[in-house]
Amino acid sequence: MIYADNAATTKMSRAAIDAMLPCMEEQYGNPSSLYSLGQAAKDILEKARADVAAVINADPGEITITSGGSEADNQALRTAVALGKKNGKTHLISTAFEHHAILHTLKALEKEGCTVTLLDVHEDGIVRPEEVEAAIRPDTCLVSIMFANNEIGTIQPIKEIGDICRRHSVLFHTDAVQAVGHVPIDVKADNIDMLSASAHKFHGPKGIGFLYAKKGIRLTNLIEGGAQERGKRAGTENVASAAGMAAALKDTASRMRENAEHMSALRDSIIQGLSLIPHSALNGDARKRLPGNVNFCFEGIEGESLLLLLDDRGICASSGSACTSGSLDPSHVLLAIGSVHDVAHGSLRITIGEDTTAEEADYIVRNVTEVVEYLRGFSPIWRDLESGKAQHIL
Ligand SMILES: *Cc1c(COP(=O)(O)O)cnc(C)c1O
Repeated sequence: MIYADNAATTKMSRAAIDAMLPCMEEQYGNPSSLYSLGQAAKDILEKARADVAAVINADPGEITITSGGSEADNQALRTAVALGKKNGKTHLISTAFEHHAILHTLKALEKEGCTVTLLDVHEDGIVRPEEVEAAIRPDTCLVSIMFANNEIGTIQPIKEIGDICRRHSVLFHTDAVQAVGHVPIDVKADNIDMLSASAHKFHGPKGIGFLYAKKGIRLTNLIEGGAQERGKRAGTENVASAAGMAAALKDTASRMRENAEHMSALRDSIIQGLSLIPHSALNGDARKRLPGNVNFCFEGIEGESLLLLLDDRGICASSGSACTSGSLDPSHVLLAIGSVHDVAHGSLRITIGEDTTAEEADYIVRNVTEVVEYLRGFSPIWRDLESGKAQHIL
């Protein structure tokens, strides 16, 4: 089997598993307990917090451990609104191609009386900083723009946007779930006020992540109860997963440059191979993208059929986002960058990992090429395109 869906989730690293086992077998204490078994668990938790903080150049006290990226996104947006409300500021700026953890929270906030500006994303999948600046109003409480997109992998001009927000005294949050551990991030240099991350996107366990919030930002609770996480997130801490998250991040970040070189070379060879398929197109900028991300549109076929046939050939890939595949809705990301409906149906996301080999990349190209040709063979849409009854778009 070839796993090429690392944007959906990643395999846990040996380092992560090795860090977790002793927390379950020996150090099973409650970090709030005062005896030494509890304090040993507390030490593991605090070391994990310091380790993840170091990777993004944050202070340990600026890291709140959450159940994952979705929770961190919810907490960041609700924090900005709670702080903004004190000064009558309830306008938020984001983009149309964010993850649903952001988009659906924004929808909920709109129902609660906030106003939202969703910026368009250009055809290259990149947000323009000057458009962010133009959207800022006197009542803006937050700009939230993802670091890298989970479907098309495009990396945003985060530092430029951070600088603009700083100049206008508006909080800046970034959903960096796809970026943490994969590309360099420095929250101080990039002027990031809040940042969301998720362990299972960088070879850690599922169900854990963190929210970085710059010192001085008072987080709003999503969960009330005990005083864990400095009172900002109640519930007995998931010590084993926190240890696994930190070990995974340290491990992958220590080889970030080699990993990126290896993966981007394979990514480019897959992109080159798939470009030879007639009436196909790469989605998103070819260079400003995550090292492991390939996303293509193929005219005349449906993404779902493509996935099933690739699965028969041992390839795990994705059509759009894992959160929406299973439905025939076109990807909101492809719609946001201006891909037309029918083309968006036929999209394929291949996200390779550190372990992907050149042979696997070749196998992917060969099999995608064959399957696309096969599916076009009995596609009525393709027949109309070829006979001239419909116009090719790609
Ligand atoms: C996966 C993902 C999330 C959600 O993270 P979970 O830990 O699965 O809740 C949020 N944003 C982006 C960009 C993602 O890729």
